[in-house]
Amino acid sequence: MERKHVPTYRIAIVGAGPAGYFAAQALQNLTTEDRDFAIDMIERLPTPWGLVRSGVAPDHPKIKTVSKVFEKVANAGNFRLFGNVELGTDITTQDLLDRYDAVVIATGSSLGRKLGILGEGLFGSLSAADFVPWYNGHPDFKELQFPVDCDTAVVIGAGNVAMDVARMLALEPDELETTDTADHAMDILRKSSIRKVILCARRGPEHAAFTAPELRELPKLEHTNVIMDKVEIAAALARVGDNPEKDVKSNLSAMELISHVEPSSHDRTLEFQFFLAPQEIRGDDKVEEIVLGINKIVDGKVVPTGETKTIKCGLVISAIGYEASSIQGIPYEHGKVVNDEGRIDGSNMYVVGWAKRGPSGVIGTNKSDASDVMKLLVEDLPSTPKNKGDVLELLIDHEIVTQSRWELINDAEIAKGEPLGKPRVKAVDKQELLRLGGL
Ligand code: NAP
Repeated sequence: MERKHVPTYRIAIVGAGPAGYFAAQALQNLTTEDRDFAIDMIERLPTPWGLVRSGVAPDHPKIKTVSKVFEKVANAGNFRLFGNVELGTDITTQDLLDRYDAVVIATGSSLGRKLGILGEGLFGSLSAADFVPWYNGHPDFKELQFPVDCDTAVVIGAGNVAMDVARMLALEPDELETTDTADHAMDILRKSSIRKVILCARRGPEHAAFTAPELRELPKLEHTNVIMDKVEIAAALARVGDNPEKDVKSNLSAMELISHVEPSSHDRTLEFQFFLAPQEIRGDDKVEEIVLGINKIVDGKVVPTGETKTIKCGLVISAIGYEASSIQGIPYEHGKVVNDEGRIDGSNMYVVGWAKRGPSGVIGTNKSDASDVMKLLVEDLPSTPKNKGDVLELLIDHEIVTQSRWELINDAEIAKGEPLGKPRVKAVDKQELLRLGGL
């Protein structure tokens, strides 16, 4: 019997984070008897997995198990990884557009939003967009410098990233011993004299963007007192009444529990303070204090009281959201790629994940998001594939981390962690990663 010829569409996905893998998985699921895909994933780092490797807090290993799904996608047979290949440097957007039937941008949002206040540039004031990849061993952030010879650190923001940052600073480093926290970060955290971490939210407990499972974990910290003011939480509960939204209800009940935990004799504290909006960071040549405007609720709205509070501290980390870093040839606005439900107008390019919708949702949110966009991509495909050559021809002398080379890196990191009881010991230097990959 003659074998039926199935048209194979070449799709490039730029960015090997959750959104990129879920886009690849969606394409694999959209394969039919009449339509196949050859998926090339291009990633500027020598390692894939995006925020699962360099964003998720090391003490949340369960969240990282989604990497098993990514590896299954990568080994499904129609997938090639091009790690250590940077769009805009090693190849251009046009190179991809010329060769692929469609290009999917999945590059996330890597830049921390700015507070835009005086003193933000002082030594000791930094963004979670730098601090988080630093403790997670991202090669670009291993040299990050900031002071830890102070007693107090202030974290700005009331989202899960702020909570991760505050927790990493406030916990006893021994609690990270069995995690994949970067070695350089363990050294600094052990030397740190920070004993008080104050997380400042500009609105009330009922407005916080934390999620309840993360809040519920806080009382489990073994060596840290987590402090929330009983009166403040009770007032928030009274404000929301009997029928708050489900998420608000579970957040407030988790906060109520925290507010009733009796402080122990631990010398480490993580304190949540609400209704404080950052106004100015002060210090001569490094952070010495932060001035915050005190807010209150009037007629259901959060408004300034006109009064301020000053907190002496040596470190301020802002965790107030992210923006996409731009790539030449792709339109951006308001920190995101300009798109219509994932379609990038006037091109055969698409965008998924945080680069598309902004920095919101948990990892799983990217699954349905990418699946919706890939359906549009498939609708738009022409009846015959382009068949215009392979991107490999542009990368002949380039050190590409292919899937099998990545597996060598992965295995080496896991093997190094095993005798230490850690899930892995991350290599944080780009050359070292390439060496582990046999390059
Ligand atoms: P987020 O959830 O959007 O929270 C941002 C916080 O910053 C909000 O509390 C916001 O307050 C505050 N903020 C914004 N501008 C501010 C300013 N100028 N001054 C003071 N505060 C300001 O963002 P995120 O924490 O970066 O998290 C991003 C996404 O990743 C979220 O969907 C999050 O749930 C997810 N994530 C999940 C996990 C997990 O599941 N374990 C871990 C990390 C991140 P307002 O509300 O007043 O604007």
